[in-house]
Amino acid sequence: MSGTLGYSEPYRPRVVIVGGGFGGLYAARALRHAPVRVTLIDRHNYHLFQPLLYQVATATLSPADIARPIRHIVRRQRNTDVLLAEVRDVDAARRALTLADGRTLRYDYLILATGAVDQYFGHDEWAPIAPGLKTIDDATEIRRRFLLAFEHAEQVDDPELRRALLTFVVIGGGPTGVEMAGAFAEMAHHTLRHDFRHVDPTAARVVLVEGGERLLAAYDEDLSERAREQLEALGVEVRLNSLVTRIELGAVHVGEERIPAYPVVWAAGVAASPLGRKLGVPTDRMGRVQVERDLSVPGHPEVFVIGDLASITHQTGKPLPGVAQVAMQGGRAAAHNIVRTLYGERREPFHYRDKGSMATIGRAKAIAEIGRIRLSGLVAWLAWLLIHIAFLVSFRNRVAVLLAWAWSYLTWQRGARLITGEVRPDNVLRKLGLQTPSEGGSETEAEKALAAPAPEGGGGWMEGDSDQAKAAGGA
Ligand SMILES: Cc1cc2nc3c(=O)[nH]c(=O)nc-3n(C[C@H](O)[C@H](O)[C@H](O)COP(=O)(O)OP(=O)(O)OC[C@H]3O[C@@H](n4cnc5c(N)ncnc54)[C@H](O)[C@@H]3O)c2cc1C
Repeated sequence: MSGTLGYSEPYRPRVVIVGGGFGGLYAARALRHAPVRVTLIDRHNYHLFQPLLYQVATATLSPADIARPIRHIVRRQRNTDVLLAEVRDVDAARRALTLADGRTLRYDYLILATGAVDQYFGHDEWAPIAPGLKTIDDATEIRRRFLLAFEHAEQVDDPELRRALLTFVVIGGGPTGVEMAGAFAEMAHHTLRHDFRHVDPTAARVVLVEGGERLLAAYDEDLSERAREQLEALGVEVRLNSLVTRIELGAVHVGEERIPAYPVVWAAGVAASPLGRKLGVPTDRMGRVQVERDLSVPGHPEVFVIGDLASITHQTGKPLPGVAQVAMQGGRAAAHNIVRTLYGERREPFHYRDKGSMATIGRAKAIAEIGRIRLSGLVAWLAWLLIHIAFLVSFRNRVAVLLAWAWSYLTWQRGARLITGEVRPDNVLRKLGLQTPSEGGSETEAEKALAAPAPEGGGGWMEGDSDQAKAAGGA
């Protein structure tokens, strides 16, 4: 970049980036040679590779395989400070952020990249029973419940209770739901098949519930159909056009039917991180901030919003999907526009280059859409493997993931089958009369929440979609 810096030297403007996910990290990297001071804030000390979270939830990978300390990633970037903190508020008029501990941080330029959260469409009481998959904690909790279900089933005689324990319901037929259902089925039918004496893991039922008429609604229809066939070949029961009307501890209601089930996973919708609304600028129904073509927000050219938190519509007329590439490319574009501004140059409109999308279903089973090319089965799966390895942020993680995959492929085994947290009678068993609370010690807050009665009746989650882009429609 040429030209004179629009600030008197040696003042270096402060760029604050909130969120060390794909968007925030790529923005920070793009600013490494810029004449600015960068502060990168995240409430976690690590960057998380979310596309492989389901492999932690299903015990193929360990959390450290898909996460890397942010401080380490930017260690050679002399102009960048890392701050472990949660941002609670943004005062765009004062150009200041408020942190959870009450401190204030001022900025010259702000890049907000705090991503998305799970959305239960008015039924937040379902969250403790049917966790979503957004964080490492979510993934280890799902893994815990899945593995505990087999352990409990091994110890009960009542066939109905055993059946409930071995029924896993995944709600939402977007990429995350499809990946989770496929991996659960493979684990039950292959990985665990010889490990129990009193229960047959291959009898486990995996039910994938989707409100729309097909899985993976954002993909080509033919590929959706292939995905359904591949899941069914793995033994997954796919329920299309099926609305979840209620979730209670130990059961999911689909329309009029009550399916006794434990555990349950929510993959049916996301909303933008609540921080976006604090800017006081227009947001869409999902809470995404409607940005200008240069990714800044209306009335505040010094504030940029990127990734899952942004609604970027200028290119196609509808919001770009909530995927990693949109966040990465947006991060770079916002950073470049800040540098252009500093040198008195015109900003450039963001232009997203779609490099294709893919979803994996199981061992040697996947689908991929790359431009006009449609792939499914083994070729798509190999492409999926290569791309995910390529985008992992560190060499260490690439090697760790490759080894874990090779081991898993050759042996059908999964190396991270750990039940973490305290293992004690789960509420689902207590509710079903198997054990009393006194046997398991006092209840934790999560268990109390789980014990709360579920509301009667409908509401129904958003029709059709579980795919992140389409979830924009809201409930
Ligand atoms: C299970 C799963 C599977 C996925 N699979 C794929 C896939 O296969 N391919 C694909 O392209 N995309 C996939 N995605 C989507 C992709 O991961 C997201 O689009 C991408 O992560 C968005 O990047 P981002 O930077 O906007 O947000 P994120 O990557 O979510 O990062 C947000 C960061 O902000 C931090 N943060 C949030 N709030 C605060 C706060 N108040 N204060 C401080 N820090 C905060 C968070 O800790 C986090 O580090 C998947 C997502 C999930 C959840």
